[in-house]
Amino acid sequence: MDINKIRSDFPILARTIYDKPLVYLDNSATTHKPRCVVEKISEMYYNTNSNVHRGVHLLSQEATQAHEDSRKTVQKFINAKSENEIIFTRGATEAINLVASSFCREFCTAGDEILVTEMEHHANIVPWHLQGDIRGVKLKVAPISDEGELIIEEFEKKITSRTKLISVIHISNVLGTINPIKKIIEIAKKYDIPVLIDAAQSIQHTEIDVQELDCDFLIFSSHKIYGPTGMGVLYGKEKWLDKIPPYQGGGEMISSVTFERTIFNDLPFKFEAGTPDFIGSSALATALDYVSAIGMNNIFDYEAQLLDYATEKLSAIDGLRIIGTAKEKSSVVSFLVKDIHPYDLGTLLDRMGIAIRTGHHCAEPLMRRLGIEGTMRASFAVYNTKEEIDILANGIERVSKMF
Ligand code: PLP
Repeated sequence: MDINKIRSDFPILARTIYDKPLVYLDNSATTHKPRCVVEKISEMYYNTNSNVHRGVHLLSQEATQAHEDSRKTVQKFINAKSENEIIFTRGATEAINLVASSFCREFCTAGDEILVTEMEHHANIVPWHLQGDIRGVKLKVAPISDEGELIIEEFEKKITSRTKLISVIHISNVLGTINPIKKIIEIAKKYDIPVLIDAAQSIQHTEIDVQELDCDFLIFSSHKIYGPTGMGVLYGKEKWLDKIPPYQGGGEMISSVTFERTIFNDLPFKFEAGTPDFIGSSALATALDYVSAIGMNNIFDYEAQLLDYATEKLSAIDGLRIIGTAKEKSSVVSFLVKDIHPYDLGTLLDRMGIAIRTGHHCAEPLMRRLGIEGTMRASFAVYNTKEEIDILANGIERVSKMF
């Protein structure tokens, strides 16, 4: 992999922050966009902007073609069986809300349970709470070890006759833990329970094949895999998407409407009410093509080197404690330094041009489990380098000495 070439594809990396070169290590929050993605967006607005589906004129047909081709690109990227299984959403959050709302409406009654883990992002907790308010659905929570690994035996013990869905994070945005999702799905199959995989933090780091995994739902956001914001994907097996009701109503998702009733459209349109973000979908497809051209396995191997290097460098800093030491980890290092408040350290690093994230990372229950309020988090993407990790380590040492 030619890292200099990759870096030159991302114009923002050439920026300076307070006269220092930008060291961007906040990739779990969002990734930067390669030039081809940004150019795709302007090219579409300049040349192909027109509302999709049902347009008789050429521009509309071209925009429709681009949107539906993008669906095929996503289908291929995660190896879904059919493009009908790819639903475009506003992001990972909306995708989980869609499943929570539609799945629970069809299959859940008061007292039914959704099984999650202690390391979930709020996006995989709050939508179930909403269903708790509406339908009396309850969350069951599988515990993790102090190292940040799911305790798989305990996980299985949490399954009951009321468990209707297992909804788990693939890679933790806080700990970097790679959860054993194959094993989880294998266990779920024994009890005939469907599984939703939150791939918001894995889609950009590791190859995902939904047929091989045999998961029932999988969700991710475009902006975390070098694509545009406001765009995401829900993958669902056709057998589930056929059974569950629409999430929202409006244009596009209907085949016929009278004042008395609505007949819903076929998949995937049944779940895409209103004008879709056809420019976002095209830009997402461009991002996925970009990633595919580099090769997901190359990305995984390179980022593993970055993680190893960062773990070694940061562990050597006096008073620094890494939070999350699972054996299987990816691209994220959370840490605390002595009793320095994460906000203070993050602010001082920012003055050195280093962007990391601080706080609870939308995982307050996990923070409570770990007995901390928050962490500093450095997270890596394909364009990061060992030199940037050196700058981070030096920056932390400098701040640490100031306190
Ligand atoms: N799930 C995980 C594990 C995440 O890390 C995030 C965002 O950080 C989300 C879900 C929600 O993603 P979005 O805010 O793009 O909808």
